[in-house]
Amino acid sequence: MATIFSRIIAGEIPSYKVAENDQFFAFLDINPMAKGHTLVVPKQEVDYLFDLDDKTLGDMQIFAKKVAKAIEKAVPCKRVGQMVIGLEVPHAHIHLIPINKESDMVLSNPKLKLATEEFQEIAKKINDAFAEENK
Ligand code: AMP
Repeated sequence: MATIFSRIIAGEIPSYKVAENDQFFAFLDINPMAKGHTLVVPKQEVDYLFDLDDKTLGDMQIFAKKVAKAIEKAVPCKRVGQMVIGLEVPHAHIHLIPINKESDMVLSNPKLKLATEEFQEIAKKINDAFAEENK
């Protein structure tokens, strides 16, 4: 059975998409640790990030870098932090999280509750910044 992320990539489940290329898809985490918290996912369905072949993992990190640069432009923050967990969804993904202090990366922090309009607005800003950076 396809993973929830494959179903998002296929458009069967809605998401707040921020970027896409032929290999990867990036969208807002639905339970964000910060505004702009984004997941970068390979279209290839592999459970564990570190089981990806070297070329795909390298390409994914470069794609994540481009998304991180777009997040920096769209969301006020000091840095974009990167995290890999993967215990909940068995489809490799990188978390990109706008941060201002170390504790912004603490997993047990309460997650933000955002309105649909806020998700849409943030996704559009990141998507616009990504398009601008990569035209
Ligand atoms: P983990 O597998 O532990 O890295 O966590 C999976 C992440 O995916 C969590 O931060 C969830 O909030 C996020 N997530 C799960 N389902 C969705 C969804 N349908 N749309 C966006 N984010 C999701």
